Amino acid sequence: HDAKQQHDSFRRFNGGTGQDSADRLTLLGDLRRGLTDDSQFTLHYQPKVSLTDGSLSGVEALARWHHPTRGPVPPGQFVPVLETTSLIHPFTERVLTIALQQARTWMDAGHRIPVAVNVSTRSLLEESFPGRVAALLESSGVPGELLCIEITEHTVLSDPTTTIEALRRVRELGVKTSIDDFGTGYSSLTYLKLLPVDELKIDRSFVSDMVADASSHALVASAVDLAHNLGLTVVAEGVEDDPTAKALGGLGCDTAQGYHFARPVPAGDLLLEV
Ligand code: C2E
Ligand code: MG
Ligand code: MG
Ligand code: MG
Repeated sequence: HDAKQQHDSFRRFNGGTGQDSADRLTLLGDLRRGLTDDSQFTLHYQPKVSLTDGSLSGVEALARWHHPTRGPVPPGQFVPVLETTSLIHPFTERVLTIALQQARTWMDAGHRIPVAVNVSTRSLLEESFPGRVAALLESSGVPGELLCIEITEHTVLSDPTTTIEALRRVRELGVKTSIDDFGTGYSSLTYLKLLPVDELKIDRSFVSDMVADASSHALVASAVDLAHNLGLTVVAEGVEDDPTAKALGGLGCDTAQGYHFARPVPAGDLLLEV
């Protein structure tokens, strides 16, 4: 493969023809090698901002892959591929390790910053997952309440009983739990009531056009009320402008995240005065 061929094959892979098994195998090989390298996977952090007083209520850790020849590859292109194999487990372990080391570094500098980590349901459902989290909390010296585990809504229902049990075990460590991309899955009210979670994150697709689109606005308003009636904190994702932030504040939404406040950045670029 010369560089051009590699680029083209990668583009095909990304072009939605994910069935192309040769490209998939190339990507998986690169991921497997990348996971043995200390430098290819890093985390960026995006602030979660309180809509009541503008304070920093935490950060979300978002994975970044620096491919040795292809350059940066966004998580939307490699996480779903990792999730098809057991490679997702060392990846989850890596992400949790980096995020907790960072939380520890902030603690040592006098900042208690809750860090949210996205965890694939496939990793959450591993029998050993809660024990691994406990060990990582122990070795980093970070209290459980500074860690939040985000699980996307559309995977929660694949195995509700086991998911509920796994979330319960994680929460016993003091760790917070969150349902990500809320509104894109089909969580019944019954399961929402049973899920041991602390937070709902309303998906960007509803938030981004809530000012222009009455049905998106209605959905966001209902999600805020639903979360509050269940005793959960609610976060709006993908807030890109001030009218949206104001509309969310008006609905009583607790927290917001989005380019309007801050983009995901390396830990060193985070302005902790926010
Ligand atoms: P997510 O967890 O819902 O993360 C939010 C995504 O929206 C991030 O994309 C973030 O950069 C982007 N975003 C934040 N604010 C705005 C905004 O105002 N406008 C727009 N247009 N986008 C905004 P990113 O970093 O590309 O991550 C995409 C998805 O990949 C994440 O969605 C999450 O599902 C997954 N992901 C990222 N890191 C990890 C990880 O470490 N583990 C796992 N399992 N999944 C991850
Ligand atoms: Mg997330
Ligand atoms: Mg999300
Ligand atoms: Mg999302």
